Amino acid sequence: MIADAGRIEPWLGKRFQCSCGREHEAPIRKVTIERGALTALPKYAEERGYRELLLVADRRTLDAAGRELLQLCEAAQLQARLCVLEDDEHGELAADERVIVQLMLHVTPSAQAIVAVGSGTIHDVVRFVAHRTNRTFWSVPTAPSVDGFASVGAPLIVGGFKQTVPACAPEAIFADLALLAKSPQAMIAAGFGDMLGKYTSLADWQLGRILFGEPYCELAAEMTRQGLALCVDHAEDIAAGTELGVRKLMEGLTLSGISMLLVGNSRPASGGEHHLSHYWEMRFIQERRRALLHGAKVGVAAVKMAALYESAAALSQEAAAEAIAARQARGDVPTLERMRAQIAEGYGSIAEQVLAENGLGAASESALDDELPRRIVERWDDIRSVCRSVPSPQELAAALRRAGGPAAVEELGVEEKLLRDSLQYAMYVRNRYTIIRLAQWL
Ligand SMILES: [Zn+2]
Ligand SMILES: [Zn+2]
Repeated sequence: MIADAGRIEPWLGKRFQCSCGREHEAPIRKVTIERGALTALPKYAEERGYRELLLVADRRTLDAAGRELLQLCEAAQLQARLCVLEDDEHGELAADERVIVQLMLHVTPSAQAIVAVGSGTIHDVVRFVAHRTNRTFWSVPTAPSVDGFASVGAPLIVGGFKQTVPACAPEAIFADLALLAKSPQAMIAAGFGDMLGKYTSLADWQLGRILFGEPYCELAAEMTRQGLALCVDHAEDIAAGTELGVRKLMEGLTLSGISMLLVGNSRPASGGEHHLSHYWEMRFIQERRRALLHGAKVGVAAVKMAALYESAAALSQEAAAEAIAARQARGDVPTLERMRAQIAEGYGSIAEQVLAENGLGAASESALDDELPRRIVERWDDIRSVCRSVPSPQELAAALRRAGGPAAVEELGVEEKLLRDSLQYAMYVRNRYTIIRLAQWL
């Protein structure tokens, strides 16, 4: 099975028993990554016996692909209607309540499939609405900018808080290379940034496995690793935005998406780098600032995580034990009170939700793990070899720059104060073990 981890085809529509002890399923039936992939969609609709489609785009993706797809569907005698989602006051689209209602108003009782024509945000809104209205969801990515096309969770912004809501994966993906190669270099670089974040998300998963016996799947990890390798091996082509480059990037993003589908959560592909990025995003929303590309933030955040890994890797077992003992002696360790206070400071009006996510609500006095410092020291050799597997921050930054994306927080407009806050508070975005949480002890 592991031998096929770098390929997409063998997993489509499969349900199987994995060596990790769990049964996995990839609900995606079809992935077409080629020039002219748009023309495959009407054919697929016919094969599936679907007559009525709702195509969902925004102003930008309408021009890039929406109109063409509508014409192709009409030429194939399908009844296709268009829903063009309206931008917010910044001229942008966020996956929030406003946009969800816009789409809901377009879903007629007879629409059989909803087609997302666009990048990550449109996909997240469509995946949520398709799931809640029990419609089939098809994906037409217009830029290789995120690995979320294939995923099952919809990161939505509800009441200013970013949360991942269970939804559905697309049944089919039609990625047209001619279209992807025309997407702005910033979007391509963002997709590359989202993939570079897998270095740290995979390492974070290993930390969870070592310290907490978290469920781990070697196949899913290998699939993410191979997807990442496709991108790193084709970094020059991706930087140049060639068809080969965007193909490899799209394949990498899809493999990463499938790895998440197999394990049923985002653990293989999302760790501390995503938490940092989500924290910046929330603060930008609260401050009504212009949104940044997801992958651009993740890439820069991965550089910060790599720096934490590098510092941890430099410690011998004795040095780690001394660092922990010194923290304990001066009382500088995570306690229930401290965690609650940090959440109140870092999250303001949404602190209640964050406390609940972390199992730190009023009813959970036993949330603290007193044995953790001892386990960190005991398992230090294993932890250290995970830390060493992460490339240096300089290497990651250089790779991001080669692809034409930002590599430092200043380039994103994330100020020193926000960076400091995020390194302190972002770990609470998700109740998931990461290098940020480990660094609290070192
Ligand atoms: Zn991501
Ligand atoms: Zn498995």
